Amino acid sequence: MPTFRAPRGMHDLLPADRAAFARLEAIADDLAARYGYRQIETPMFEQTAVFERGIGEVTDVVEKELYRIVPRGDEGESWALRPEPTAGIVRAYVQHGMQTWPQPVKLTMTGPMFRYDRPQAGRYRQFWQFDVEAIGDPGPAIDAEIVELALRFYTDAGLAPVELHLNSIGDAACRPAYVEELRTFYRRHADRLPPTERDRLERSPLRLLDSKDPTVVALNADAPVITDRLCAACLDHFVGVRAHLDALGIAYRLDPRLVRGLDYYTRTAFEVFPSGATGQQSAIGGGGRYDDLVEALGGRPTPGIGFGIGLDRVLLALEGAGGGTGAAEASPQAVIVGADPGATIERLRIATLLRAEGVPARADLGVRKLGRQLEGAARDRAHFAVIVGDELAAGDVQLRDLQAGTQRAVPLDGLARELKRAASSHRHGPEGRG
Ligand code: AMP
Repeated sequence: MPTFRAPRGMHDLLPADRAAFARLEAIADDLAARYGYRQIETPMFEQTAVFERGIGEVTDVVEKELYRIVPRGDEGESWALRPEPTAGIVRAYVQHGMQTWPQPVKLTMTGPMFRYDRPQAGRYRQFWQFDVEAIGDPGPAIDAEIVELALRFYTDAGLAPVELHLNSIGDAACRPAYVEELRTFYRRHADRLPPTERDRLERSPLRLLDSKDPTVVALNADAPVITDRLCAACLDHFVGVRAHLDALGIAYRLDPRLVRGLDYYTRTAFEVFPSGATGQQSAIGGGGRYDDLVEALGGRPTPGIGFGIGLDRVLLALEGAGGGTGAAEASPQAVIVGADPGATIERLRIATLLRAEGVPARADLGVRKLGRQLEGAARDRAHFAVIVGDELAAGDVQLRDLQAGTQRAVPLDGLARELKRAASSHRHGPEGRG
C-alpha cells in the first residue's frame, strides 16, 4: 500500500486545532456583527481573470502562486482557487449590483485561501483568513475604523500587544511618476538583479520593493520612497487617516517601504506583526485601500478598503506566546455506563433520550466491564456517569457526580431535567466560569 498524506503545505485541522480555529471564528463573527459587517460567502474558485485583473498579472500571487484548475471538456473557462478573498468579494459586489445598496457595503468572510508557495513554518498552501471589506466609502475615517477593528481582533483573541505598520502607496495620480523613478533606480543596478526581478523591473517595479530576494532586499534600503512623492489628495487622505488613528489612541510605525504584494492597493496600506517579530513570514494580518478595484472588475468607480487576518499564524503566535490557544473542547455532560457489559441497548436508549432533551451525553457502547467504562467517562472529563443496573426495572438509575465523588438514585424520567439543572448551576454557580 502507498502511504497517503495530505497535500504538501496543507494541514489537517485535528480536533484540538479545529476547536482553536472555531474560537477564532467565533471572535471574528462576533466582532464583525458588532461593527456592522454582514456575512458573505463566495466560491473557493473564480474565473482566473478575476485574479489577474484584480490582483495584477505581475505579482507573485498570480504569476507563481495561483492554483489553476484545468478546464473540463468544452467549458473552456479558466478557473483558479482563490489566493485571497477581496477580488472574489468585489466580483460579487459588481455582479449583484451592490452599488445600489446603501454605501458603504460592509462584508465579512472567513475561510480557506490557496497559494502555491514554498511551504515553511507559518506559510501554507491552504490557510485561513478572517476578512473584512467596506466598499463605497472614500475614507479616511473608515480606514481608521477598519484598522481599529483588525487590532481589536488580536486583543479579543488574547494576542496583544501587536505592532501596526502603516503606509500610503499613492494613487493613479501620483504613483506612475514614483514608479518611473523606482524603475530608473533599479535599472542602475540591473546587472545585480536576479532574472525574475530584472524582468519585473520593466513590467512592475513596485513589486521589487516587497521582493524576498536578499540582493533586492539590500538594494531596497536606498530606493526612493513613495511617501515623499504623494500628490496633495493622497497626502491629505494619509494625514486624515493618521489623525483618526491618533484620536483613537492607536500607535503605529510608519513604514514607507510597505507596498503589499498585490496591485490593487491604493493609498492606505497596513500590516500587523506580533510584537518584536517583523519578518515577512510573521505578518499576522494586512490590508489596505483599493479605490480602483471595483472599476477594474467591471463596476462603476467605487472606493473600498479591507483587511485579511491569517488565522493559522495567529494560532502559531498564540502558541509561541505560551498562553495556549484558549480553546476548550466540548466534553459530554454525562456518560451512560452499565453493570451488565452486554446491555448496550439500554445504554444507547438512555443516551438517545438525554440527547433528544439537549443534554450532551455519550453511551459507552463497548462491551466491557463497568470499571473500564467509568475510567472512560473520567478520561472524557464527563461531569456525571449514569450507571444503569438492576434498579432500571423500577425506573431508576444511579447518578454519579464524577467531580464531587457523590452518587444517588434518580428516576429515569427526571434524569434529563436533573442534568440540565446541574449544568446550569455549574455554569452560573459561585465558581462559575460563564
Ligand atoms: P496578505 O494579503 O498576503 O498579506 O495576507 C494576509 C494575511 O494572511 C497575512 O498577513 C498572513 O497572516 C496570512 N497569510 C498569507 N499568506 C499565507 C500563507 N501562505 N500561509 C499562512 N498564512 C498566510
